[in-house]
Amino acid sequence: MPIDPTLAYDHGNIFARILRGEIPAKKVYEDDFALAFHDIAPQAPVHVLVIPKGAYVSWDDFSAHAPAEEIAGFIRAVGHVAREQGLVAPGYRLLANVGMDGGQEVPHLHVHLFGGKPLGRMIAQ
Ligand code: 5GP
Repeated sequence: MPIDPTLAYDHGNIFARILRGEIPAKKVYEDDFALAFHDIAPQAPVHVLVIPKGAYVSWDDFSAHAPAEEIAGFIRAVGHVAREQGLVAPGYRLLANVGMDGGQEVPHLHVHLFGGKPLGRMIAQ
């Protein structure tokens, strides 16, 4: 069920719990600003989620309210993970769903990194 991205941050959401180590995740990268882990239901041969360590509901919340240092750190982490996963030469896709029409289901900002095969058109018809 898509979330309402205008609501306040819910500290009980599943990615907040992963950040606190309360539930497991297959981590691929972590630094001061970001955590990256494999999606539990991969939609491509490589499907990694990268999340900021700060409490931001969505890309909208993050881009409006995060300090510049956190934005820079997170974006650098996304690029680092893509390189580390070997995705740059073959190519890959970045995606951040926001709210109802975007189909965002977890109310903590996450960027999907997809790769490992040709990914086709951007939006299913
Ligand atoms: P959204 O639709 O919000 O952009 O994507 C949420 C993603 O989180 C989905 O691709 C879903 O498979 C993934 N996901 C949901 N719960 C968990 C979980 O507990 N662990 C992991 N690793 N991924 C999850």
